[in-house]
Amino acid sequence: MDRRYQQRNQYHRQDEKERCLFYYKVGVCRHGNKCSKSHTSPNRSHTIVLLNLVDFPRNADVTTSNTATTTTDESDKSTQETKPNKPTTKNKSTPPIDDKEYDSIYEDLYIELAKYGRIMEMYICDNGNDHLRGNVYVRYSSEQNARDANNELNTRWFNGKPIYCDLTHIHDFGEAICRKPEEKSGCERGDHCNFMHIRKPSPQLQTDLENAQRKKFQLNSNPYISKRA
Ligand SMILES: [Zn+2]
Ligand SMILES: [Zn+2]
Repeated sequence: MDRRYQQRNQYHRQDEKERCLFYYKVGVCRHGNKCSKSHTSPNRSHTIVLLNLVDFPRNADVTTSNTATTTTDESDKSTQETKPNKPTTKNKSTPPIDDKEYDSIYEDLYIELAKYGRIMEMYICDNGNDHLRGNVYVRYSSEQNARDANNELNTRWFNGKPIYCDLTHIHDFGEAICRKPEEKSGCERGDHCNFMHIRKPSPQLQTDLENAQRKKFQLNSNPYISKRA
């Protein structure tokens, strides 16, 4: 076998070994910058992630610590599995976001994010854990759209907070989204699950937004309809 080929394979294997699987699968990892594996964001991608953008309150009264072996969960979403987690830094008793309010947040975000290009998929995570909670993922129809969005959004604010945005490797969300039932009580890993728990808007809103976007792109591509200045 060609020696260069062997070398390249060796480097590739090394690289695979060093890569943080969760980071490559869901775009974030619970260890953040302190992870011992490599987190390298892609130079180009169709997908962006906006970190912790939506202010979902923490699942009520979940107490965690770095060395915890037991988890106290006074809510009805009891978790069986106990794994090390980041310590709780704040626990304000924020009321949960009801469906109406959530639809309004989702709509605002969708309209804003659609300004950078055609949205193929958009997902918002309501996981209980810090690294996934409130993350918004958007896959655009082109890498240029995602690049524009990433560059621009990192200079913007949302709901009084600066936006932290990055390109992410995710292209197929089937690998990133938790396969357990969508209900919060459906995933036995609860707050410790490292896959995306998606909160969907009402079906009507989703349909309306997609139809509006389709119409906009049809209008834009129709040479007989002049664009507004
Ligand atoms: Zn990691
Ligand atoms: Zn899960």
